[in-house]
Amino acid sequence: MLLRALTPRHQLRPSSLQCPGAVSLYCAAGTSRNASRTARKQEIVDLSRPLKHRALCHPFHPPFVMTPWDTHQPMVAGKTTFRTASYYISMSDHSGTHIDAPKHFDPTPGALSVDEMPLEDFYTEGICLDLSHAELGAGISVEEMETALSASGQEIKDGDTVLLYMAYNKRLSPEDPRWQHDFPGLVPESVHWLADRGCKIFGVEAVSPAPEGELNFIAHNICGERGITHIEGLDNLESLLGRGRFRFVGFPLKLVGGSGSPIRAVAIFD
Ligand SMILES: [Zn+2]
Repeated sequence: MLLRALTPRHQLRPSSLQCPGAVSLYCAAGTSRNASRTARKQEIVDLSRPLKHRALCHPFHPPFVMTPWDTHQPMVAGKTTFRTASYYISMSDHSGTHIDAPKHFDPTPGALSVDEMPLEDFYTEGICLDLSHAELGAGISVEEMETALSASGQEIKDGDTVLLYMAYNKRLSPEDPRWQHDFPGLVPESVHWLADRGCKIFGVEAVSPAPEGELNFIAHNICGERGITHIEGLDNLESLLGRGRFRFVGFPLKLVGGSGSPIRAVAIFD
């Protein structure tokens, strides 16, 4: 675990795996070097899909390609031998778990590319709604959104990231030919409903925020009109249900002029 490797040993207590994709760790807080330290438990839940060779994304985009470049072949300088591994990667800027930048769906000159989006957009509070009842291919209505919000016991606050669990990854694996096409999503009114409540970014597990075809085009157009956007390709959202608010973090790569970017999406519970 990288976090362990980078955290000074004296600040760590034993960590344990809480659930798939979740990492528990203890952070120490103190007012001075000599002050007694107060430990608080923090849990980081990984919401990202694996990026691996041939991983599929939306059929409009090419698949993820990752092939060996260096394979620990020996390199010699003087009396020293060095063996290194590295990979060549070719991908769409809509690979894996990713954010759509406004430039993706808004042809207006000046629509933000991913490197121009404020980093604050990717470090927000978040909630997750349970919409797992939605049939594959179904459009989720405003009434269903309101029922899910009420069941969550939460409210949508200005600037929240709202993640929408549709149990999609549990029903279709990326190996299934239907995976790129047959998913539930939002009807146009439900996209407006999120924007009306101050949600700036919402997130789904599928490759699109709305069912394939016209509804998906409309959902993207509404994002452009309302100045909001969405994350596609999330995973492990079921780990967030019934747990209230969390810190959402998912920074994009600094792709100059990019129309989107893979993100490492996580939810953090203190
Ligand atoms: Zn996208």
